[in-house]
Amino acid sequence: MNPQYQYDIFVIGGGSGGLTVVDEAQRLGKRVGLADYIKPSPHGTQWGTGGTCPNVGCIPKKLMHMTALIGEIRHELAATGWQGVDPHSKHNWNTLVNEVQRQVKGINKANDDWLVTTNGITYYNKLGKLKDDHTIELIDKDGQSEFVTAEYIVIAVGSRPSFPTDIPNVKQLTITSDDLFSLKNAPGKTLVVGASYVALECAGFLTGLGYDVTVMVRSILLRGFDQEVAERIGEFMKISGTKFIRGTIPSSIEDVDGKRLVKWVLNGQEQSEVFDTVLLAIGRSADTQNLGLEQVGVQTNKESGKIIANDADSTSVSNIFAIGDCVQGRLELTPTAIMCGKRLIKRLYQNGNQIMEYSDVSTTVFTPLEYGCVGYSEEAATKKFGKENLKIFTSEFTPLFWNFANRKGTCYAKLIVKKDDDVVIGFHYLGPDAAEVTQGFGVVIKLKAKKSDLDNVVGIHPSVAEELVQMQTWK
Ligand code: FAD
Ligand code: NDP
Repeated sequence: MNPQYQYDIFVIGGGSGGLTVVDEAQRLGKRVGLADYIKPSPHGTQWGTGGTCPNVGCIPKKLMHMTALIGEIRHELAATGWQGVDPHSKHNWNTLVNEVQRQVKGINKANDDWLVTTNGITYYNKLGKLKDDHTIELIDKDGQSEFVTAEYIVIAVGSRPSFPTDIPNVKQLTITSDDLFSLKNAPGKTLVVGASYVALECAGFLTGLGYDVTVMVRSILLRGFDQEVAERIGEFMKISGTKFIRGTIPSSIEDVDGKRLVKWVLNGQEQSEVFDTVLLAIGRSADTQNLGLEQVGVQTNKESGKIIANDADSTSVSNIFAIGDCVQGRLELTPTAIMCGKRLIKRLYQNGNQIMEYSDVSTTVFTPLEYGCVGYSEEAATKKFGKENLKIFTSEFTPLFWNFANRKGTCYAKLIVKKDDDVVIGFHYLGPDAAEVTQGFGVVIKLKAKKSDLDNVVGIHPSVAEELVQMQTWK
């Protein structure tokens, strides 16, 4: 412990990454400080402790997604002999929001209790700002400042939804995921702008809850993901009732009697439609303005605001580290921020030498037909190894229960295998419970299993996952 400083380590930002650092460091008996402060959205939405994931990200999103999936079952109950359930029964938005917020507040309270009662942690519900390389200014909601010092500083301030710069009053006329999960009034007829994780997940569950939903796609669906699978997701969403307008962006959004008149240009023609709600999901920007980074010499990408850190999470100032969504080139996922924080503390205090590896991270897009993947997409593998050096195994299948209950659509799986050594370098699964199925295959890919290893696995029958160890057809 260096008595020169009040804290051994001070964390700015108490989300997935920041809280992990706090937890790991306090377990080692370090004097830990944390500043976490939520700047309200343009609509004034605010939330409690825990960062994006439990408040306005993974958790409320998954609860709404699951609610929409439960709704699907209404249509299948009659086909399987259940009586007295109206397949056209309506969903109540307020009940869902209240229940979701009850869950969220439970997580907030657990975090609050832990932060306040744990020895070694001092929690400030204040905005943190770097003053010099060992001093942090803490600013409360009334603008009052205090200063603290620390040997190490970790910046984990996350990201916030981006807005286009060329649409007047766009922040007032649209909402983002920061507002959606606590929205007081049902969104009604909704335009979702964007075509990646947030846009497709939100469009999926809003359609499932019974709203008239259109997705406006600038270019492709799910950039960076396997495009054959991405297109299948789009097709499945269309079957479920989501509409798509492809190849354009809004040119203007106006308020007309409380509704939103959206105009866009497609094939040289101006088109327009009125919506109740416009949900922007066009990516997220690092929350690094006014952090005092420049003043202290922490380098950022001038365009994105993201902090530049090396593989060991060091910024351009040696005792200042940065982890999670606010760092350039990192996967913006909760488990990556958590593992990054754990490894950082191990390296700082326990002679650890492992850095966070961002390759072969499993992920799932929680669209109505869920998509789990790990490793290379077909496009990325082809670019890196050449088409002639790959075997692409595919399988289209219908789960037993879907056939039984007359559910429309099919599931899909793809394995990408290197011809020279038979190693599976890409796994893609589009079907029920994708996160649960994909987590196990994450281990398979990490261990560099061969296709012949999968062929030696006896499947579990009847299941959807057995399809993945029986794939024999290759493109
Ligand atoms: P955050 O969790 O964003 O935490 C940063 C914290 O710092 C916030 O509390 C912020 O208010 C605070 N802060 C900012 N500036 C300051 C300051 N100057 N002083 C003090 N505090 C400050 N990931 C998944 O893995 N699975 C999912 O299913 C998933 N779903 C998502 C759904 C949505 C709608 C969104 C938006 C994201 C989702 N994510 C998901 C991504 C995941 O939530 C983020 O990658 C993760 O929360 C990033 O953690 P972090 O610690 O970097 O930042
Ligand atoms: P992304 O950065 O992943 O995607 C942004 C989307 O918006 C792209 O489709 C992009 O299109 C489009 N876009 C960008 N600018 C504009 C514009 N001006 N007008 C119209 N469309 C535009 O952002 P998300 O917000 O979807 O997600 C942020 C991150 O959060 C993800 O990368 C993910 O890591 C994390 N997340 C994880 C989830 C999970 O694990 N299930 C769920 C939700 C979020 P184009 O392709 O043309 O650039």
